[in-house]
Amino acid sequence: MEPIHDPDKDHPSSENSDIISALREENDTLHRIIELLPGNVYWKDTEGKFLGCNKNMAYVAGVESPDDITGKTTVQLFGEKLGNPVNQIDNQVMREGKEHTIEEQGVTSNNQPAIYLSKKLPVYNKQGKILGTMGVSFDITDRKRMEKELKIAKEIAEASERAKSRFVATVNHELRTPLASILGLVDLLKEGDLNDRDLEKTTTSIEKSTQYLLNLVNDVLDFSKLETGKYTLQLGPVNFSHLLRDLRDMFRPLIRNRDIVLRLETDKNLPNFLLGDEHILRHVLLNFVSNAVKYTKKGRVTIKTQMLQQTEKYVRLKISIKDTGIGIPEDKLDEIFQPFQQLNDTWASRNGTGLGLTIVKKLIETMGATMEVESKPGKGSTFSFTMDYPFPDENYPIIEKKPLPNVNREMTRQPIVLVIEDDPIIQFIHRKLLINIGCVVDMVDNAADALRILNETHEMIFLDLSLPDIRGPALIKKIRETTPYTCPIVIISAFIDKEEEIACMKAGAIESITKPVSQAKLRELILQHCYPPDES
Ligand code: ADP
Repeated sequence: MEPIHDPDKDHPSSENSDIISALREENDTLHRIIELLPGNVYWKDTEGKFLGCNKNMAYVAGVESPDDITGKTTVQLFGEKLGNPVNQIDNQVMREGKEHTIEEQGVTSNNQPAIYLSKKLPVYNKQGKILGTMGVSFDITDRKRMEKELKIAKEIAEASERAKSRFVATVNHELRTPLASILGLVDLLKEGDLNDRDLEKTTTSIEKSTQYLLNLVNDVLDFSKLETGKYTLQLGPVNFSHLLRDLRDMFRPLIRNRDIVLRLETDKNLPNFLLGDEHILRHVLLNFVSNAVKYTKKGRVTIKTQMLQQTEKYVRLKISIKDTGIGIPEDKLDEIFQPFQQLNDTWASRNGTGLGLTIVKKLIETMGATMEVESKPGKGSTFSFTMDYPFPDENYPIIEKKPLPNVNREMTRQPIVLVIEDDPIIQFIHRKLLINIGCVVDMVDNAADALRILNETHEMIFLDLSLPDIRGPALIKKIRETTPYTCPIVIISAFIDKEEEIACMKAGAIESITKPVSQAKLRELILQHCYPPDES
């Protein structure tokens, strides 16, 4: 190790060569130790000029050997940006006369930015006069990066934990509010002395609250599937023109008595079939149109389809839903896509869950489409999404749907139907609905009784998907394999996943519908499957 230069100190002059060689040996040992140290070791005079360093320090300074550094300052070696802060610390160490441990900016031997943990201390002679500084610096760039990554990961985990708790608390509140209303309304009904107007109001309110609960449960299920990445695309040929016309027809009764025109502007060259996920498309469009109708008092809602590009393989489609409604302030445009964010009103009057757009945004991302929103308060909003839809190939056969029956037809006889359902309340409801439309109902609550009473007079079977003793696909198989009867089987369930639905269809079911089932739907099914087209 080179000694700190002390101009005031006299060099010892000794004739004793043993002492000199002992000192040399000690010096060599110190040198070796310094070279062994993993970091940069250096010592400087009071003007910040290097007096010596180890090899690591020399490499970092971009020179061959420690000797090349001697006499140079940090600014000369590393420039002002890195050198000036180092000088400041060195001066502080000498001024205060105490050691400092700091993190400082530097470079690696490859001239890459680095962070060093440095310890610097003042050096004195025996008389206590300051001679300069010495220091050791370790490259802690990797450690700092890891610390930063860990901090970010921790913050993300904490934020997601907070979001989850907030989500659960909100769902809890959103479930309890309509449930409390329903219980209160049922109490009113039990009291029994309501006039016709109040009775109508009470039942309508119960219907609204339960419909809201159903929407909420469906939305939360979709939301959690999307959050956990369990939502898989179900691709098939989609007839966009039909889909959009269906959508318009669905909303027509809703706006009949309102001052709104619902228009469809579809590109004339739109191909008949394109490959897409019909379920997602329907969900997204339904949501946009239903919001447009909900938040427009007067004016126009337009569903516009533009073909932006067409190649041999795909068509780039932009679908926009434009309204002339209340609009959304610019600073709220991000907010409306957050769970449970509603800018106006409460659930009771609008029946919205505040999850609609959150789900839509995730569905659009799942499809791989891009979304745009433009809005001006008082003028209206346009929600649109653009995506490339391939033409379906032979892997996606186009199945034309059976034409829907003329629902105004009369039922000319009383079809006998078998209902397999274990829940007494659902039994009561389905029996009533089927009798109302003119059916004769045989009701059983288990698979064994169903197989025992099934006979050639039954024209249709309504089967609950999850009976206590058997699941739907297994019972359909049993019916088809152990009896000669081929009447259509319709699955009724509170919730069915795609896999189980396919299993039911493969086993021989013709359709699956979800509870609550409407009288109109049951009538439509009976007309469609129990009456051949020419029978009326
Ligand atoms: P909700 O189910 O309550 O309608 P959404 O997630 O679909 O929830 O929408 C969130 C909020 O965004 C709504 O409460 C409403 O304030 C606002 N919003 C959505 N669509 C429109 C629109 N077309 N015009 C004006 N405001 C809208």
